[in-house]
Amino acid sequence: GHPQDCILETRGMTKEFRGFIAVNDVSLKVRRGDIHALIGPNGAGKTTCFNLLTKFLTPTRGTILFNGDDITSLKPAQIARRGVIRSFQISAVFPHLTVLENVRIGLQRNTGWSFRFWQGERSLKALDARAMELLEQVDLQAFAKTVTVNLPYGRKRALEIATTLAMEPELMLLDEPTQGMGHEDVDRVTQLIKKVSAGRTILMVEHNMNVISSIADRITVLARGAVLCEGDYATVSKDPAVLEVYMGT
Ligand code: ADP
Repeated sequence: GHPQDCILETRGMTKEFRGFIAVNDVSLKVRRGDIHALIGPNGAGKTTCFNLLTKFLTPTRGTILFNGDDITSLKPAQIARRGVIRSFQISAVFPHLTVLENVRIGLQRNTGWSFRFWQGERSLKALDARAMELLEQVDLQAFAKTVTVNLPYGRKRALEIATTLAMEPELMLLDEPTQGMGHEDVDRVTQLIKKVSAGRTILMVEHNMNVISSIADRITVLARGAVLCEGDYATVSKDPAVLEVYMGT
């Protein structure tokens, strides 16, 4: 198809740690606009893949393409500037600042906004208006003045998503967004991911199959560092190799 249909592609991406192959010849295609889930048992290489995609790690071999450009040798900040934003990178929210202040800081880290910030008082108002808009998007407007440390656990992820949105991601990487949550929070965060996926692409590591079946357009299953299977939920959940890995038979 058209090269721009594929926002992210890896070709033969490999990572060795002193001879141990954590990610083995992974060729992955993420389609523009998709919610794409990366799944697999513990130790499959999911985190290492995320670290390679954001250049926290450098691949031993292979190529990473974003919008058709080779980004393999770029630095993490350059990758972020291109619009590849991983939630936990900036989820280091300041616990003793308010929710609104954290989103404001997120916006000021965005080059475009930090530039406008120095343009005077009108821009300060615009900054606040934009921060409130982002809080509304993640349904946190009622918590704007709450000191972050006092936010309920399930709402912290929503704040992380808001600060990620402040960076204007084209491709958003989410690390286990529903981890450790009860049903209600899982449902709320799932709907939130679905909502913010409009107009952008999401790649997420997620363990909860209910979440995956309800929102993932495409799934890549990793096992022992390699791609085991790729497809939609119906395809992947019927795949004998996937069942074997998950059932341990
Ligand atoms: P997952 O996120 O799917 O649980 P990881 O990417 O964390 O898997 O790990 C994949 C494999 O690589 C594991 O066996 C892990 O022990 C190994 N690994 C990860 N990081 C390192 C490292 N820095 N040095 C050596 N081995 C590592």
